[in-house]
Amino acid sequence: MKAGAETTLERREEKVRKTKLVITVGPALLAGGPLRECLALADVIRINAGHSPMDERTRTLALIRETARELGREIPVLLDLQGPKWRIGVMEANQELADGAIGALYAPEKPAPEGYPWTAPLPHPELFKGAKTGQIWFMDDGALKLEVVQVFPGLIESRVLTGGVLKSRKGVLPIGLDIAFDPITPKDIDDIRWGVSQDVDLFAQSFVRRAEDIRALEDRIRELGGHQTIIAKIEHPKALENLDEILEVAWGVMVARGDLGVECGVERVPALQKHIIRKAKMALKPVITATQMLESMIENPQPTRAEASDVANAIWDGTDAVMLSAESAVGRHPLEAVRWLARIAEDADNHYRPRLGRFADCLNEKLTANTDVSLAFAACRTAEDIAAKLIVVFTEGGGSARMVSRLAANTPVLGVTSDLHNARRLGLLRGVDALRVSRTDSSDVMVDRVERQLLKREDLRPGDRVVITMGLPLWRTGTTNTMKVVTLKE
Ligand code: PGA
Ligand code: MN
Repeated sequence: MKAGAETTLERREEKVRKTKLVITVGPALLAGGPLRECLALADVIRINAGHSPMDERTRTLALIRETARELGREIPVLLDLQGPKWRIGVMEANQELADGAIGALYAPEKPAPEGYPWTAPLPHPELFKGAKTGQIWFMDDGALKLEVVQVFPGLIESRVLTGGVLKSRKGVLPIGLDIAFDPITPKDIDDIRWGVSQDVDLFAQSFVRRAEDIRALEDRIRELGGHQTIIAKIEHPKALENLDEILEVAWGVMVARGDLGVECGVERVPALQKHIIRKAKMALKPVITATQMLESMIENPQPTRAEASDVANAIWDGTDAVMLSAESAVGRHPLEAVRWLARIAEDADNHYRPRLGRFADCLNEKLTANTDVSLAFAACRTAEDIAAKLIVVFTEGGGSARMVSRLAANTPVLGVTSDLHNARRLGLLRGVDALRVSRTDSSDVMVDRVERQLLKREDLRPGDRVVITMGLPLWRTGTTNTMKVVTLKE
C-alpha cells in the first residue's frame, strides 16, 4: 500500500485480533457440529446461496440466530448470491473424464446421448447458444479443462484436456463466451427475496462486471423493502477493468480468488489480490480476501506453512477480513480451521503497523475534498499523535466507521449507532467494534452515556484519551462535521 505499512519481527504486547473472520456455514457446522464454538469466534457468517436449498437455509439461519443470542453476540449474516455461475446438473453417477476422451454436455430435457465415454447434463440453454468450436471450458474451479470440438442443438461435444472426476453441480466456466446475460438470474431473484424476508445483513454479488450490476441488485433489494448492502465479488476480468466505478457504488468488495484464478490464471492471483485490496483501501471500502485460505484443512487438522503465510500476507496487504469456505462448511475439521484462522490472524495483526501517511497518499483523489473524509483523516491523525486509546465514531449509516477503520492505522475504533443492521455490518470492518445505543437529541448527553460505557472496556482506564467524531445534529447519515477529544474520568 502506498500509505506505507510495516511488519516487524518483534511482537507487540497486546494480543488483540483486529482482522475479521468470515465463516461459511454448511453441514460440517450443523447437525451436531461445532456451530456454537465457531460462532464465538466468527465476525461474519456467510451463507452460500449456491449450495443450500431454501427450507434448509431457513432452519440454518434460525439456528445461527438462536445460538448467537445465547452467546450474547450480534453476528452479521452475509448471503452470497450465486449470480450467473453455471453448473453441471445432477447426475446419478460421477463421470470419469480421461485425458483426450471426447464426451458430451447435453441439455437435460433430452435423455443422455449414447456412445460417449462420458456425458454430463448442462441445465443452461444460453450456453448451447454461446458455445463455439475451439473454446476452452473449465469445470470444478479449474480442475478440469475441456476444448469444444463440435456444437449441435442441445449437445456440445468436447475433448478432455485435463481430466479427472466430474461430480454433480460442479461449476462450469467457458472462457471468452460472448453472450448477453442478465447479471441477476431467476435463482438470484428467489434468493434475494428470501434474504430480504429473513432480514440478512449483507448480500455478496458474484461475477459483478460493472457498477450497473450492483445498482440493479440494489434496486431489487429496495423494491422488496430491504436495507441490505452489497459486497461486490471481484472474480471476472471485466470487474478488474471497471474496479473504480465498482468501488464507488459497492459497500465493500471481496477478492474472490477461486473464480478469479480460473478467469485470469492462478499465477496472477497474488498481484491481483494486492491491487484490489489497495484500490479498495484508497476508496475507503472494506475488503474480504476469500477462497482456499486453509484449503488443506478440509482434510487435515493443521494448516500448511504456505497457508498460514497466505493468511498473514493477506492481512499485511491490508484486507479487513479473511474467509473460510469449504474448510468450515464441509471440511472434516471446521472448528480447528476457524481456530487456526483466528490464531494466524492474531499473530499477523500483532506484527502489523500500518502507517497513516499523508492524506493524499491514503485516498483516491475524488475523495479528498469531502468534509467527512477529511474529518475522518484528522481524527486518525490526532489519535496517533496523542496516542489515544480509542476512536469513537458516531456513524448512523456506517460510512464514517468505514473511513476511520481504514485510516486508523493502529487505534481501535468503536462505531456508535442506533441502527441494528448498521451496527451488525460494522462487524466486518478491521479493528472496529460496534455499540448500539438508543437515541437522544443532546450530543452532550450522548457522549456522556458512551463515556460511561467505555470504562467497562478492559483496554481503557481513567486518564486515557479518546477521540470522538460525530455529525451534528445527531442521527443523520453523511453529516460528520465535529471532532472532540475527551480524557476519561473516574
Ligand atoms: P464462490 O466465490 O465460492 O461463491 O465461487 C468465491 C470465489 O470465487 O473465490
Ligand atoms: Mn466465485
